[in-house]
Amino acid sequence: MKFDVQSENLIIKPYKNEKATYVREQKGRFQRMRRNAGWFLMLLFVLIPWIPYHGRQAVLLDFGAQQFHIFSITFFPQDLTALAALFMVGAFALFFITTWLGRIWCGFLCPQTVWMFMYIWVEEKVEGSRNQRIKLDNSPMSWNKFKKKATKHSIWLFMSLLTSLTFMSYFIPAKSLYVDLFSLEWSSIVTFWVALFAMCTYGNAGFLREKMCIYMCPYSRFQSAMFDKNTMLIAYDADRGESRGRRKRNDDPKALSLGDCVDCNLCVEVCPAGIDIRNGLQYECISCAACVDACDQTMERFNYNKGLISFTSENALAGNKVSVFRPKILAYASITTVMVCLMAFFVATRVPIEANILRDRTVLYRTNFDGSVENSYQLKLTNKQQFADEYTIRVAGMENASLNLTKPIAAGAHEMVVVPFTITVPEEAISKKISELELIIENKNQEVSVHKPTRFYSG
Ligand code: SF4
Ligand code: SF4
Repeated sequence: MKFDVQSENLIIKPYKNEKATYVREQKGRFQRMRRNAGWFLMLLFVLIPWIPYHGRQAVLLDFGAQQFHIFSITFFPQDLTALAALFMVGAFALFFITTWLGRIWCGFLCPQTVWMFMYIWVEEKVEGSRNQRIKLDNSPMSWNKFKKKATKHSIWLFMSLLTSLTFMSYFIPAKSLYVDLFSLEWSSIVTFWVALFAMCTYGNAGFLREKMCIYMCPYSRFQSAMFDKNTMLIAYDADRGESRGRRKRNDDPKALSLGDCVDCNLCVEVCPAGIDIRNGLQYECISCAACVDACDQTMERFNYNKGLISFTSENALAGNKVSVFRPKILAYASITTVMVCLMAFFVATRVPIEANILRDRTVLYRTNFDGSVENSYQLKLTNKQQFADEYTIRVAGMENASLNLTKPIAAGAHEMVVVPFTITVPEEAISKKISELELIIENKNQEVSVHKPTRFYSG
């Protein structure tokens, strides 16, 4: 399928003839940026599970205990809205970046692209250049071919296993994961998940590659809806390049009625999506800019101006005015900013305890021998802090009400405790059958407190 950014010229071709894509290695300024970004993200991915924080892993998504630890904050199932808001911040930030810079996420930051280029790099080192790889694949099986294929797949599998182990260490404490691995004490469920993620990485980065972006990634499907004529994208300047044709370096293109495209085909050979950018904008393009670097190299060789293929916008290419601050961009930027502020507010004002008061529903009240009235309750208290603490309860809104709790309630880090207690009110202090009161639960230092309304029955 092919389209221009405004989808005016949609050409539907539902089935594509799938041929293996042999990617030529490319160097250049954009490839340097892409590699540096890839290394940085990969280092983050590998190192984050090893960051300690107060004696435990700083980032741990513990599904078993239903707790997500991110440094000093622990999210519980009750904080699901905060996590949903976090995903929404990510989504709007992505919409903002896409409208402004196009598919920069796909080409430079997406794990699919980072891993795909890493696997292609291994392929290149083991099996040789693009032409050598094509020759090798077309040749009959030999000892040399077997050796190269076995080496490549072994390295790919090893990298997939490391990726899977790193990924799993976000869910299982990294130290125990590796200790269990080396002492062969893995449970079958851990073995299953590690094997599954390893095979997914192997299949995805080794074989599926651009097909994942073209046929499976939902983002590639809807990102064109965010594009406008000012969105940055990779484009070929057809006015300058056509008519294309081969020539010698010293030939005068004007005399030969040729444009600047020397038809070297390098932009096609370096493309991981297997497309020809000279055919116009295509949704398969992930904006990796490999074709920009390849074409700039050719332009330099022929002493032409660089930028026949460039990172530009449709308006810039047509010589029209480029507008950065347009309503769509401002709207996405504003929504992202508001959501980030709301998230920050939520985190700053989050109360690190969860308390629920349940009344005893079997007996509404009891009258004691001295005429005082007693109600029974149950407190369910979850200490969301990352350290143990002690809590007290007091009653507000009813004079002379007393609790039968004499000692503070102790709760370990992330622990939920259930405490039954009673409130007793002397006969003379009772003026109505149902009184509204408030229970105030505070920690030892009175830094954390929650107010819970409840009722007191006396008749
Ligand atoms: S057309 Fe260029 S920018 Fe797009 S995927 Fe291919 S090489 Fe990358
Ligand atoms: S790399 Fe540039 S000069 Fe070579 S074929 Fe592509 S557009 Fe033409």
